Amino acid sequence: MSELLNKLGIYTIKDLLEYYPRVYEDRTRLTTIDNFVKDQNVLFLGTLVKPVTMVYAKKKKILSTVVTDKSGSVAFLTWFNQVYIKDRLKEGQTYLFYGKVGAVSGTRATLDSCSIYNIEDLEKIQGIYPIYSLTAGITQNYLFKLINSLFDSGVVIDEIFSDDFRRKYNLAEANYALRNIHFPKSYDMVKTARNRIIFEELFLFQLALMNIKEKEIGTKKTNYYEDLDESDFLALIPFKLTNAQSKVIDQIKNDMKSDVVMNRLIQGDVGSGKTMVAAIAMYLAVKNGYQAALMAPTTILANQHYIELSEYFEKLNIRVEIMTSSTTKRQKEKIIEALKNKKIDIIIGTHSILEDNVEFSNLGLVVTDEQHRFGVKQRMKLSAKGNIVDTIVMTATPIPRSLAIILYGDLDLSIIDELPPGRKPVDTCVVNDSYNQRVYNFLRKQINEGRQVYVVCPLVEENEDLDLNSVEKLYEEYKKEFKEFNVGILHGKMKNKEKDQIMQDFKENNINILISTTVIEVGISVPNATVMVIENADRFGLAALHQLRGRVGRGSAASYCILKSNNKSVISRQRLEIMRKSNDGFEIAQKDLELRGPGDFFGVRQSGMPEFKLANLLTDTRVLEQTQEAVKEIVKEDKALMLDKNRKIKETLYKKYGEQLNNIVG
Ligand code: ADP
Ligand code: MG
Repeated sequence: MSELLNKLGIYTIKDLLEYYPRVYEDRTRLTTIDNFVKDQNVLFLGTLVKPVTMVYAKKKKILSTVVTDKSGSVAFLTWFNQVYIKDRLKEGQTYLFYGKVGAVSGTRATLDSCSIYNIEDLEKIQGIYPIYSLTAGITQNYLFKLINSLFDSGVVIDEIFSDDFRRKYNLAEANYALRNIHFPKSYDMVKTARNRIIFEELFLFQLALMNIKEKEIGTKKTNYYEDLDESDFLALIPFKLTNAQSKVIDQIKNDMKSDVVMNRLIQGDVGSGKTMVAAIAMYLAVKNGYQAALMAPTTILANQHYIELSEYFEKLNIRVEIMTSSTTKRQKEKIIEALKNKKIDIIIGTHSILEDNVEFSNLGLVVTDEQHRFGVKQRMKLSAKGNIVDTIVMTATPIPRSLAIILYGDLDLSIIDELPPGRKPVDTCVVNDSYNQRVYNFLRKQINEGRQVYVVCPLVEENEDLDLNSVEKLYEEYKKEFKEFNVGILHGKMKNKEKDQIMQDFKENNINILISTTVIEVGISVPNATVMVIENADRFGLAALHQLRGRVGRGSAASYCILKSNNKSVISRQRLEIMRKSNDGFEIAQKDLELRGPGDFFGVRQSGMPEFKLANLLTDTRVLEQTQEAVKEIVKEDKALMLDKNRKIKETLYKKYGEQLNNIVG
């Protein structure tokens, strides 16, 4: 049995206690036969009007009898192969039955395989029954008895919250909650128990996060800004900022003026112009004597930022450098030396700027692009390089409020809710393989008009050979089909140099069709590319699809996104339908979150999002706000959790999140 329990993730008594029911079955109400409804589970008293009979049919022993009750209606009860029932039930006697109603017709009903109890047991039986997730070989009854036996043997768990704390947040005692999550007497008790357990889960997680981010929050700053005039920079750019961009820049300037360190999250849909906002913030930092860093998740993206921004910065005599994994060792050494001696003002790069040997003279501002691609840990590491630095993180993934609270704690939120003028929504369609020829014809037409095409196929893990094969297969197919055009290939297994060369060729329109994995997912901008074909689109998250689609529609020409999928499942079609209908990143992200859960939404490994046993980040927002409050309060009073009343919280916190805490802090 222990092997089977392991399959359910149960290894210890604690695991078993925390194996919470999936749902509950209501056996509180005693019903009469005249009230039976088809398919309902019912608990009822029935008096046998005839003895149990047994017949053989289809190799089965069929036992049946008829019962009636005070309503006068009758129920026909049947069991299979349970021979003992013949002796268990006596004509004229009344028993308690529990089962699922089969057919109902007039005053007659049928039920198969009811459970049988004696009427004296009514009180014991009546109640709410836990239903657990099972695996083959483990029954509800087995788990029920096993968990029940723990309580019978007097198992007690540690209460980590003080009485005062529990009173304040209206929380049930730990053991009471545990017993009632498994064996409640009423739904109110389930609610009370759930609330307590969810509170504890979310509280501990947020407390852990708060510890991780402790250094960043509400710290008095050491950066002072005197000159907040960005007009020199604005004079260089070939367009007018959108109102939304200007508004966010004002918010950044206010942070710069205040005496608290900046911690700002900028959300803006793909193409909303976040890079410019970051550039202006960096410009102001440099103008006030600080160094600034811009960190992008990929080399390609870092290059693109560098190419776009260095032109402006150089005109303003700002020294900007790029450092990625493709920078040579010698160049790297030179850059590191220059950063230390303040010969460089702005460094743009990938997480290679996080390496330990990189030091700054006076780093004042760190901007992280496409934040959802980085973990909290990486962000921390960079902030730790400055004395106390201002931080801006940018993401195109609109984060629902509940998740923003969890992931970013006290981060201030700015939203760029407007696209630069002239952008047209990307026309999206969903097709299966039977449309291949038509899709090819369409691509041909677009390319003959001078446009370029992306073809993306799914790649879950950059080093998965399986996916690599699929890109290469696709590449061969397209080369065969489009002999008259240049077809290029791009994937994560290529050397950075090769990747950069391919991207450069694509930017310069030397490549007409680029077959790629999701390495192009974030940020890349080639305005002449107007068609995005996504193979096996059902295998992507919607947020990722939206990001990919954002690679086109960056110029003034009409743009198209073709989602290919042969998946016929209803859910899959619904998801792609959302993409077809909506160009609004926020709406899509919200729906994606609902469909896939927060783990997939962010990519569990990247963000370290936990899996909660009971808490649901989408629906438990009220508790989330409470725990946020509680965490703030506890941190204010006893940051290091040294007080005796917080001792058990600290122990549990480290038991649960110790590894992560040490990783990040150490
Ligand atoms: P994202 O928010 O997705 O990172 P980018 O910063 O890459 O978007 O901007 C997308 C494109 O829009 C870039 O080519 C950029 O130069 C351009 N852009 C940014 N701001 C404006 C603006 N106010 N008016 C017109 N074009 C703009
Ligand atoms: Mg961007």
